Amino acid sequence: MKIKALLTSATTRLDSNEAALEAQLLLQHVFNVNRAWLIAHENDALEANIHAEFEALINRRLNGEPIAYILGSREFYGLNLKVTADTLIPRPDTETLVEAALAKISPQEKSQILDLGTGTGAIALAIAKYRPLAQVTAVDASESALKTAQENAQNLQIANVQFILSNWFDALKNQRFDVIVSNPPYIEANDAHLKQGDLRFEPISALASGMDGLDDIRAIIAQAPQHLNPRGWLLLEHGYNQANKVADLLKLAGFSETDHVKDLAGINRVTLGQLN
Ligand code: GLN
Repeated sequence: MKIKALLTSATTRLDSNEAALEAQLLLQHVFNVNRAWLIAHENDALEANIHAEFEALINRRLNGEPIAYILGSREFYGLNLKVTADTLIPRPDTETLVEAALAKISPQEKSQILDLGTGTGAIALAIAKYRPLAQVTAVDASESALKTAQENAQNLQIANVQFILSNWFDALKNQRFDVIVSNPPYIEANDAHLKQGDLRFEPISALASGMDGLDDIRAIIAQAPQHLNPRGWLLLEHGYNQANKVADLLKLAGFSETDHVKDLAGINRVTLGQLN
């Protein structure tokens, strides 16, 4: 069988909007080549071992496993990140949070930044890369997630991030920051989406947070003022229907100047507040 025919049949079997792209990505992964190579070689005949390896990956995908976990990587804000089953898969929506945070961090001044629940390190590494003068601290309660984040920092040669094992602020003592960012778990515990698509395979501790999804956001907002410098900013990603509740929680905790930022779908996805 030729490469082209294999991709066509795999695309039919995967049967989704992204099927053609996913089939290509999976075959690139088996060959360890880029897309241009695949296209240039589409009339090559396949070796049996390659075919078998590819079949195994297609079957994992047909079983629902997220493409990012099968490939072991995901691009986020121009960074190629290793992802594992112990880390949330970085999403384009979270690039909105990075943009909003970068807008609050001067490129010309030293600043202290904190990323709570860093997972793959996506947010911390994007900020550290685009604000080289910033000192970024990234915490996670999962040792294996932290290990992956550290590996990503090393692979990307980003040195202005330090990683700390910590449940939210617990291990940070009296340290204070100029900007705190987080994409915490925020899905309602009984939300049916948790049993659908990629979410079935992702760590539940990174997704769900109590009956209204706000348990962790409440905990973060309550503790943030003790860890922010005067006029410091807290920026939180949250669910599609949580923007007003998060703004109210911020105001109750002494934040003013609350604002919302929309994601790519036009939904308020990030809420931020400045400490008085
Ligand atoms: N944005 C993710 C989703 O709704 C959830 C990630 C999170 O809870 N932080 O699929």
